[in-house]
Order: sequence, then C-alpha cells, then structure tokens
Amino acid sequence: MRAQPKASHFIGGEWVEDREGAAFESLYPATGEVIAHLHEATPTVIDRALEAAREAQEDWAARPPIERGRVLHRAAEIIRARNRELSELETLDTGKPLQETLVADAASGADALEYFAGFAPTVTGQTIPLGRDMAYTLREPLGVCVGIGAWNYPIQIACWKAAPALAFGNALVFKPSEMTPLSALALAEILTEAGLPAGLFNVIQGGGACGAALVSDPRVAKVSLTGSVPTGRRVYATAGEGIKTVTMELGGKSPLIVFEDADLDHAVGAAMLGNFYSSGQICTNGTRVFVHRAVKAAFLEKLAARTGKIVLGDPLDAATQMGPLVSDAQMAKVLGYIAQGRKEGARLVCGGARWGDTGCFVAPTVFADVSDDMVIAREEIFGPVMAVLDFESEDEVVTRANATEFGLAAGVFTRDLTRAHRVVAALEAGTCWINAYNLTPVEMPFGGVKASGVGRENGHAALEYYTRVKSVYLGLGDVDAPY
Ligand code: NAD
Repeated sequence: MRAQPKASHFIGGEWVEDREGAAFESLYPATGEVIAHLHEATPTVIDRALEAAREAQEDWAARPPIERGRVLHRAAEIIRARNRELSELETLDTGKPLQETLVADAASGADALEYFAGFAPTVTGQTIPLGRDMAYTLREPLGVCVGIGAWNYPIQIACWKAAPALAFGNALVFKPSEMTPLSALALAEILTEAGLPAGLFNVIQGGGACGAALVSDPRVAKVSLTGSVPTGRRVYATAGEGIKTVTMELGGKSPLIVFEDADLDHAVGAAMLGNFYSSGQICTNGTRVFVHRAVKAAFLEKLAARTGKIVLGDPLDAATQMGPLVSDAQMAKVLGYIAQGRKEGARLVCGGARWGDTGCFVAPTVFADVSDDMVIAREEIFGPVMAVLDFESEDEVVTRANATEFGLAAGVFTRDLTRAHRVVAALEAGTCWINAYNLTPVEMPFGGVKASGVGRENGHAALEYYTRVKSVYLGLGDVDAPY
C-alpha cells in the first residue's frame, strides 16, 4: 500500500525535495504500514515557499475576481471527478473509513472552492456621501497568508483556507499536519491543473517548528490555524507580535442538550454522529451529552443498542462505519481518558477498550452518570468517548453547558422551538444546532468563541478574515487651510 507523492513539498508550481530536512513517514493507521516517506522543510524550503508566494500574489490580486473564481471553479470540478482517488488517499492517511471520506472530505473541499469562486466577483466596497466630498472603500487582499492544518480533515481544512484566500487575491503557504501530509499535495496539483498560476498555493511539510517559522516571518500578513488550544495560544501570541490577522479554529468540549420532549431517536442519532463519526476526531463533537433525567434511561437504552451495532474494521471496506484513530499516540491518549473515567466513577455503558490487536482502533465508548468535575467531562479527548450527564432544569443545564473554557459548538434537541431559540441564545458557542448536529455547510460561518478560537471560516464572514478595508477620501472642493 503506497501513496508516495512525487516529492515532499510543492512550491512555485513545482515539486520540491530537500533531503537535508529530517525524514518522516506517513502511516496507514489501520495497519501501521508506511505509505509515504517525506522530509520536513528546511529553512531554505520555507524561504523559497514564502518568496514564491510573495512574488505571485501581486499579479493574482490584479486579476478580475471573476477570473480568479473561474480557476477555483475548475479545481472544484476536478476534485469531484477524482473524488474516489482523493478519498482513498485520505483514508490511507487518516484511517477514516471510505464510507466517510467519499462524502465528507474532498467533497466539502470542493464545495468551499465552488462557493468562494462565486463569491469573489460579488465583493464590493461602499460609497460614503460626505456632503460636498465623498469617500469610498476598497476590499484589498492581505498578501501572503499561511494556513496550518490539523490531521482530522486534511483536505477539507486545506480547501477551507485556500478557497477564500485565493478567491480574494491572496497567496497561501499551507503546512498540513505532519500526521497527514498527503492530500494537500494532491490539492496543489489539482489547483495547478485548474490554471492557478505558480506560487499561489504552496505546500510545505513539517511539524510545529516549521509552522512556527512561517508564523513569525515578516512576509506573512495572515495566519489561519486549525489545531488544539495550546497550539492556538502559541500561534496567536507569535502572530500578535507581528500584528498579523488571524483565524484560530481550535478545540472544544461541546454540549449537546437533550430535553425531555425531544425526538429521542433523532437525539440518539445526533449524539452518535457527534461522538463517533471520524472515530470521534472532530473539533465540534458534542462530547458532553446532557440528557434530561426523565428520558435518561430510554436514551441510554437506545444509545447502547445502536452503538453496539457500529461496524468497525478495514477502512477501505465499504461496509466499515468506523476506523482507527490517527496514530498510536492518539489511541494511547484516548485509552488513558477511558481509564480516568472509570477511576473517577463514571458508569461504563459500552465500549471502554481497544478494538482488535492491530491498528489504532478504540471501541465506541459511552459513559453515563458523568459529573461536571470529572476529567472526561472537562478535557477534549478527541476520540470515540461520549460522556452522558443528566439534568433537571433549563437554567441549570445552560449554566453547566457554559461552564468551560471552550466555546466551539453546541446542540439542542427539543420539540419546543421557543425553548430551543431561548437556549441557543444563552449558549456560549460559535455554532449551535437545533435538532441537528455537526452539519457545517460552507454557506454557514464556522468558528469558536472563548478559548475555541477567533475569526470565522466559510460563509460571508470569511471575507473579513482574508481581506482588509482601505478607505479613500475624495476631496471635491477647495482645501480649506487656516494658515
Ligand atoms: P495540534 O495543535 O497538535 O497541531 C495543529 C497544527 O499546528 C499541526 O500542523 C502542527 O504541526 C502545528 N503546530 C504545532 N505547534 C505549532 C507551533 N508552535 N507553531 C505553529 N504551528 C504549530 O492539533 P492536532 O492534534 O493536529 O489536531 C487536533 C486539534 O485540532 C484538536 O484540538 C481539535 O479540536 C482541533 N481542530 C479544530 C478544528 C476547528 O475548526 N475548530 C478543526 C479540526 C481540528
């Protein structure tokens, strides 16, 4: 099983290798097989990528937006035509089942390219009447942007950053996670084939040090990070030193609240999607499931029955519903949290152990009788571990749902829509779902509050984070100087 790219990096429209950079491997998490050998970017490679971006950006910004959009549109079409191939690559790199990658990964990347392709030519400024004089505003690109990705949705993350950056006239240097380096390179090839001029989308490989070198470089105007809160704090601080624009898409410990009048089958389905999809490696997961005491027993019974039927196995098998975690380290971390949950007295409803003896699989796990102070209710686990907590009143559950440093997402299940809107208004979260969970269409702005992040990806909101406003005052009369 091989997924070896032509080289580690893609810079200025060319494949680039520099064997001076530390060697690393990409592994297939289902078996531990090595699927690609790569090298981390050296300072020379990093410099070359930033220089290529700087050189290409000015001409790109000068193109009519409709032309920029046309390139992105073509790229979206190529992605859709190659969805199978890209999905297999993503499955090999992440271990996520093909059943998911075929519908959720490259496809949502194509949506972003298509959305921002159409958005680009609609961007306008304002005219501001000032009596005799007037002013107008221009939306300008920021220049060279840096994107840094996490390993759970590699091609989606690359597209969610590349699409708005390129649509609005910027150049991007993208560093995928060192755990999942491959699909961003495939995207670079596709953008080139779609007609993107050289230097506008560059991919370099490496870990945190490589990311940090990009963030601190004075040529960089903007940094968009998808990653954990601790990394976000470091990246935000460094970007702050350089007064750079940032988008920080960070972690969460989101509440999913199930009221006593909810459709329980739908609520159970949403809780499962919001904890077990991608083996639980989703930032917005509703990992604190608050269930009203009156329906707790019925909820747990349905949940245990359906969770017990989840099909784990070979991610390349079309019947497999759940694959492994991304790495041994992540599996060990998740198993550590499960042990902690047992130690703290949470009641194990199902799962609770490694699945099989090869690959990084963890059985889908549900804990009930979880209390707010338990570690499994406070920390982001990033694995298939659901904590079910019970509650009595609306005020109580809102207070408890908000009692966290995170604020990425939240969900409410109830048939009472007045209550639903009242509760989401009170929840401290960047994205809320009513009678749904974890749906993130590109049309809808996405991002966190509190420690979960700043800025928004997707939707019209993304314009704020990939452009800047220039105000132009137009004097139409005499200059009235007092001296
Ligand atoms: P991570 O924070 O360990 O790494 C994220 C990226 O940052 C990687 O590419 C890494 O190499 C890079 N990095 C690490 N240190 C850096 C530094 N000092 N300077 C610059 N770059 C640095 O996160 P991860 O383990 O890859 O991903 C899981 C985390 O990502 C979870 O916390 C999850 O919630 C979060 N996430 C958030 C979103 C979102 O949109 N909010 C989406 C997906 C994942």
